[in-house]
Formats: sequence, structure tokens, C-alpha cells
Amino acid sequence: MTDPAVEFVGVRRSYGDTHALDGLDLTLAPGELLALLGPSGCGKTTALRLLAGFDRPTEGVIRIDGRDVTGVPAARRDTGMVFQAYSLFPTMTAAENVAFGLRVRKRPAAERTRRAAELLELVGLGSRGGAYPHELSGGQQQRVALARALAVSPSVLLLDEPLSALDARVRVQLRDEIRRLQLAEGITTLFVTHDQSEALAVADRVAVLNAGRLEQVDAPQEVYAHPATPFVAEFVGVMNTVPVRDGRIVPGAADSVAVRPEALAVGVPGGLPGTVLTSTFLGPVTRLVVTTEVGELTVDAVSRPGLPAIGEDTTVVLSP
Ligand code: ADP
Repeated sequence: MTDPAVEFVGVRRSYGDTHALDGLDLTLAPGELLALLGPSGCGKTTALRLLAGFDRPTEGVIRIDGRDVTGVPAARRDTGMVFQAYSLFPTMTAAENVAFGLRVRKRPAAERTRRAAELLELVGLGSRGGAYPHELSGGQQQRVALARALAVSPSVLLLDEPLSALDARVRVQLRDEIRRLQLAEGITTLFVTHDQSEALAVADRVAVLNAGRLEQVDAPQEVYAHPATPFVAEFVGVMNTVPVRDGRIVPGAADSVAVRPEALAVGVPGGLPGTVLTSTFLGPVTRLVVTTEVGELTVDAVSRPGLPAIGEDTTVVLSP
């Protein structure tokens, strides 16, 4: 087994009585992209800041490539960071922003210029090196920030909700771009996000954090299909809980199962009766919320003519 690239061992960070992180044990394998996912206030930023060296744990140890960095200041850790937005130096051009870390490290001018050009090319901004941040779109600025973080070839890349300020289309584009670059460079990455679809889409593994504690660390497919706790089930996508007997939804049945919206179907004769409360067209699927005797059930039906409309009666069954 290869040695981990990053280790959090029993890491606690307390503010008075608040435990922002309550004993975090987490490792990242070399080249892995791990998404740290959880609701606002769960401790994600705290974990990232501790790894970057902007903050010190109350207890525990942090290692990068086997080296204890717990007491090492940020400037002497080998990390690159991309913040939420607007973190570029406004009076420097894109190329100067990218070369900044190399200048701090006193690399020769020719090397700085060459490396900046190479990285801007890599993020698709080869022709915009002379542009100032205010002349670039939000997505372009984040590409420059990504190039800047990669320029010094850090051991670990830290991404702090880097897509949260972008509009939906650009967000998906840049998300996929980050993943492509991360795989190409083979760089160990901690990606902090509160957006479950983002985490599931890009990560090798997803670590779900709740109130300073890890609930589950697993591949995206596992976290989605086999959530370890009710919190994970609720947070990662929508989950219905239905009483079942012999593979059918039966009110009052002793057993209950957790089912995703796509595992339910509507309009099948003999199903559990209900009334459509809301209907949301999402493109390929339409999300229906149906009130039934066992509560409100969320059903993702393949979009098609003839789906029951709001206020209409229908039935709900487990998909075969
Ligand atoms: P997230 O990034 O998941 O939104 P944070 O790591 O920012 O969460 O915060 C985790 C918890 O720690 C929250 O309850 C927050 O209020 C608390 N916290 C974070 N920073 C401080 C601070 N400097 N002083 C006091 N409490 C803090």
C-alpha cells in the first residue's frame, strides 16, 4: 500500500465550547480527489484551513507526505489553494498572478514567464495572459486562480468551494475542467463543497461531514446507493422511507426501506393511492411530490406526455 499523501489524525479544533472539528481521522491517497461535503457550519472550512496552515488544531496531528506539518506555517507548507472567488491580485495581469508564487520563491524571470504561459494554456487561457482580473469573466478568473495554485507544483491542491460564485452552466464546465486537470497532473486534491451533485460528479471519494464529525467516507456510488447513516441518506440526494411487505408499499407494514426518487414509479394500477402536490420538470426527468397515506413521496419519473399533473390522483409503486 502506498503511503498517504495527507493524514488528519484525531484532529480537533474547538472555539470555546464549539467543536468545529470533533476528532477528524481522514487520509488522502496520492493523486486522489477527495470531496469534503457537508452543510454550512459542519467544519469543512476549518479542516481546509488547518491543512493549509492558516490555523492550528486544538488537538491532533496533520501530515503531508508523511511529514508532520501541524506546527508548520502556511508559507512553508507545500499546498496550493483556490478560494471561492475574487482572490486574484487586481493590479496584476493573469500571467503575473500565475507567476506570483514563483516570484515569491525567487525563480528566474524566464522560468516564471514560461511556466505562467504553459499553465494559462493548460486552463484554456493561453491568449489572455495580459488581461487584468476585471477584464475576465468569473469562470476565467477561477481558471487563472487554478493555474496560479498549480504553478508552484504543490503536493496538495486545496479547493474551497471554487465554483460557488459561478452560474450553473459555467459551474459544470469548470467542475469537469478541474477534474480533467487534476487527473492529468495527478495532484492530490481536497475539494470542499456543500453541493452534493458537485461532490458526486468529481470525487474519487466523498467524505460527508456533519457537526464536526465524519459520517461516511466512500466512493460516490457507495455514498449514494448505501448511505451509512440517515444523515448521509438525507443530505446526499433525496431519500424516501416507505413501509414494505412482499416488495409492495403497504401502509402499516412492519419493515421499511429507504428508496431514491428514481426507484419509485407513478400511475401503475394497484399502487398506493396519492395526489400530486408538486411537479417539477428537470429535463429528462420530472420530479413529482405525491401525498399518500404513508406521507409525501418524491418520485422521479422519466419525462413524458401523460404524467399526472398537480392536483391529480395517481398511484405510487416501487419500480420493478
Ligand atoms: P463550514 O465551512 O462547513 O461552513 P466552518 O468550518 O466554517 O464550517 O465552521 C464550523 C463551526 O465552527 C461553525 O459552528 C462555526 O460557527 C465555528 N467557527 C468557525 N470559525 C470560528 C471562529 N473563528 N470563532 C468561533 N467559531 C468559529
